[in-house]
Amino acid sequence: MTESLIASIATLQDMIQEARIVAGFTGAGISTESGIPDFRSPDSPWMRNKPIPFALFLESPKARREAWRRKFTMDDLYRGAQPSAGHIGFASLIASGRMPAVITQNIDGLHQASGLGEDQVIELHGNGTYAKCLSCSRRHELDWVRYHFERNGDPPECIVCGGILKSATISFGQSMPEEAMRRARRLAASCDLFLVA
Ligand SMILES: [Zn+2]
Repeated sequence: MTESLIASIATLQDMIQEARIVAGFTGAGISTESGIPDFRSPDSPWMRNKPIPFALFLESPKARREAWRRKFTMDDLYRGAQPSAGHIGFASLIASGRMPAVITQNIDGLHQASGLGEDQVIELHGNGTYAKCLSCSRRHELDWVRYHFERNGDPPECIVCGGILKSATISFGQSMPEEAMRRARRLAASCDLFLVA
C-alpha cells in the first residue's frame, strides 16, 4: 500500500469516527470485484444490446420476450457472484450502528448477500433477483418465470391479476421508485458524512 493510500485511509477512519450519522452510497464499481462488469468495463455486456425502453416493454410482446431472454442470459453469466470486500466493509459500518442504511444504484442483491436486511438497503434502481407484476406489484420468483418462459417461449402472466411481469429493476423510461427515493432523501438530509463508493 502506498503512503498516500495509508494516509487517506487514516483520514477516512477519522471522518467516520467523528460522524454522528454516516450515509452510504454505492454504484456498479463495488460489484466489479465480485465479477459483475459495469457499463464501462472492457467488453461490457451492457453495451452489446440497445436497452429496451419501458414504453416498448409495455406495448410489445416481442420486446418482452427479448428482455427476458437477455435477463436469463445475464443471470447465467453472473450466477454465484459473492459480496466483495467493499460490500463487507459497508456491512460492518452498518453493524457498528453508525450507518443506518446504504443507498445503492445496484440491482444485484449483493448488499443483502453480505448480511444486510431489506430495511438497511435502499435500492434506487430496483432489484434484479426477482420479478414483479407491473399491475399489482406481487413478487414472483425468477426460477418460476424462467420455467414457464422456456417451456412456452413467452413469459408467464401474474398469477394474481394476469398483469405483465418484469424483472423488479427500473428500466430506461420507467419512473424512479417513490418510497426508495423518499428514504434516500431522508438519509442524505440527516447524515453528516456521505460515503460514496
Ligand atoms: Zn398482478
